[in-house]
Formats: sequence, structure tokens, C-alpha cells
Amino acid sequence: MKVGSPQTLVLVTVMIVGFALPLRAQEYQGDIVCGGKDRFTVPMACMNVCSRQKRTLGNFSAGLCFFSSQCPAYGKEAKSALPVLYNQALFGRGAVIGQAAKLALASHIINTYYQPHDVKQIAVKIGAAEGGDDFAHVERATQSGGKTALTIQDDLFLTSPGYLISTIGHEMIHVEQLERTYKTNLTAINRLVGAMRELEASSWEIDEDSFKRSFGRNRAGDCMQGQEKAAQQMAFACRKWQVKKAIEDIRTSPRRDIYLGSVGKWLSEDPWASQIWLPDNPQWETQPAGPMPDNCKNP
Ligand SMILES: [Zn+2]
Repeated sequence: MKVGSPQTLVLVTVMIVGFALPLRAQEYQGDIVCGGKDRFTVPMACMNVCSRQKRTLGNFSAGLCFFSSQCPAYGKEAKSALPVLYNQALFGRGAVIGQAAKLALASHIINTYYQPHDVKQIAVKIGAAEGGDDFAHVERATQSGGKTALTIQDDLFLTSPGYLISTIGHEMIHVEQLERTYKTNLTAINRLVGAMRELEASSWEIDEDSFKRSFGRNRAGDCMQGQEKAAQQMAFACRKWQVKKAIEDIRTSPRRDIYLGSVGKWLSEDPWASQIWLPDNPQWETQPAGPMPDNCKNP
């Protein structure tokens, strides 16, 4: 067989494919392991299966769930504290328990993955979050010099680690939004402002835009359950519509002439709206919102 003959080509191709397959990026199976083998995306799925395994003399890790990141974006840093804090918060292995352990984990995530933000500037609390997002809520400091308050629901910790990290990042976007100041009076257009803020946070979560952000892109986006990814996509579609609907509502209101002026001013003042949303929606003054997507509600 001569080099360059069709047979060689086939053989070489087979060899390349044969070698390339095991080297390809492994499909994400989860960051939680049971007994060092089976991988799970969410902590309870591991607990359910793992607790049935018997620990024997030679097999100490059987029956134990622990964090071992499969995602390149987190937990693989040299001397990462994420596994220790995760095992403490979710699997009760450590000196701190309950909400204090969850607080330690959330604080570590903010300080490690969302610099320049850190918990010296944000008052983080674990507990029931009224209003805001499903799993968390950010509130402006009540007094000048006070801290922005972030409340994280207990049950966020039961989602996959990637979704947890991603959702905390979503809240960090809200923290940055609260730091923006505008000349436009937002009173009459606050439903639009709220909808646009959610759209921006959603867009970051699914890595949809190239907006330059202090803490960069969402690197955890590929490391979560399929259904969590699908929920983020669905939320994005809904929020895109809600922004258009909020503008449509202003356009069809009796005070449209005054308020549309405020909308235009605010759209050009807000950094994300002006750089990302506006170029995609040049017809914003006239474009109809269209039908409401599934699992969505009026803004
Ligand atoms: Zn939000």
C-alpha cells in the first residue's frame, strides 16, 4: 500500500477518528459523585442512590456523596475551597451546618467567580426571598453607605452546582444594574426597566450577548441539568417578549407622547439596552409584541 493511496487515506482517517473519540470533551454528567464513581447533576439524586451503598472495610467512600467538578469553569482551581464548602453545605460534612453552611458556600461563589463583587459589599442572607426572581432577590441599600442585600432561597442549593453558580451570577447582574444612574425619570417606565433588567440577566445566563461585563461571561452555562438549561432558554424567550410588551403598553396608553420620549431617552442611557438591545430592535417604537410565549406572563 502506497502512501497517499486511497487505502492509506481510509486507514489514516480510521486511526484519527479512533484516537480522537476518547479525547473529545466528555459530555457533562454532573459534579457530584457517589463513592467516587457514578456522577449526578443534583445533590438529592446522589443521596437517593448513594445511601443504599454499603461501606466496607476497603471501600470508605461508598455511601458518600461528594463534590468533584466535571465542569472546567469551577472547582478545579488549585486548592479550591468549593468542594469542601459544597460538601459541608449539602452533605453535612464540616463544622458548620444548616443556613450558615449555605451562606459560607454562596459567599465563596461570589468572592471567587464574581469579582470585583464580594461579600464585603453585599449583605447575603439565606432564607425566604419575597418578590424578585424564583430563587433569589436583590435589594438596593436602604441607607447611603449601606450594603446591597442579596437573599438566596434555601432550595436553590438543591439544583445543580452549575445552576447555583449561574443563578448567583444572574443576581450579580442585578447588583450591577442597581449601581447605574440615569437622568431619565423612570417612574412611568418602570415596568419596561424591570423587564429589560431581567432580559439582560437572562441573556448573560445563556451567553447570548457580547456585552463587556466586570466579571465576564457565564462559564457555568454548559454545566447543568438539561431541564435547567431549558428553563433558562424559556425564561429568555419570555423576557424578550415582556420587554416588547412593556413598550407596546406604553405606546397604546393615553400618555404615549410623553412616555415614549422617556423610553427613548432611557434606552440610549442604559449601557446594556443601548449596546445590545437597541441595535437588534431598531423598530422599537412601532414593533408589535406578538403572542405571549409559553410559561410567560404580562410584564
Ligand atoms: Zn432576575
